Amino acid sequence: MTVQTTSFLEIRNIEALYGQAILAVRDVSLKVDEGKIVALLGANGAGKTTTLKAISNLLGPERGKISRGSIHLQGESVSGLSASRLVAKGVVQVLEGRHCFPHLTVEENILAGGFVRKPSRADLLSSLEQVYGWFPRLREKRNTKAGLTSGGEQQMVAIGRALMTKPRLVLLDEPSMGLAPIIVQEIFEIIRTLNTRSGVSFLLAEQNANLALKYADYGYILENGRVALSGTAEELRAREDVHDFYLGGVRAARVN
Ligand code: ATP
Repeated sequence: MTVQTTSFLEIRNIEALYGQAILAVRDVSLKVDEGKIVALLGANGAGKTTTLKAISNLLGPERGKISRGSIHLQGESVSGLSASRLVAKGVVQVLEGRHCFPHLTVEENILAGGFVRKPSRADLLSSLEQVYGWFPRLREKRNTKAGLTSGGEQQMVAIGRALMTKPRLVLLDEPSMGLAPIIVQEIFEIIRTLNTRSGVSFLLAEQNANLALKYADYGYILENGRVALSGTAEELRAREDVHDFYLGGVRAARVN
């Protein structure tokens, strides 16, 4: 007998539109089990950001919407739930491009994430200490205006701010974008530590499949708004076609 387990997050057959006609996501289904790192891979424009924004109901400001399908958290439908209600249920989004408040200090930026929970001052400060524990660099820069820090530090601030909500799942869009390889590795190592030590799950949109599959448990590859392939990170790494197209293999080189 097979025992049916409920995934922490499950997206079933979603379709997302911008305006009335631009079909950005056609039929995407995916799952994130508790405690896992799942990579959402694909080229520029494949639909990764749209999928992540659809989960947190963030398509509206871009005149986008989910036109079909459903989203479930621990088996319960959360389709249409606002981003802040979803945060209260343990799912937080870190948008592509880092989005810090440039005129606020690093510490003020991080603290901004904590207020969503309406915590006590002691709780807020202990969460802040925890974030500094994960990102020691941010403690050193705590009084620096976020706009004056490096791209890597701003990405850490954005993740740190999200961690202030005490999430169970972080939806993280393109953390490596525009960053030096050594900083990217530092950030991914922190993601792995957060996952293994604190059990935080991640749904990670990345163009850099090679990198993401080193850290992920499972991966989905999007092409033109559809899931073209999925499998364990090990399976995807071993597939020659994936290697050629997404991991910098022979054909990718030829196409380039
Ligand atoms: P990237 O890595 O460039 O962010 P992506 O895989 O995240 O790519 P999306 O940003 O989700 O892809 O884009 C999917 C499709 O939707 C693309 O064809 C894109 O041009 C289109 N699209 C994205 N945002 C909008 C928008 N605000 N209005 C109209 N079309 C959009």
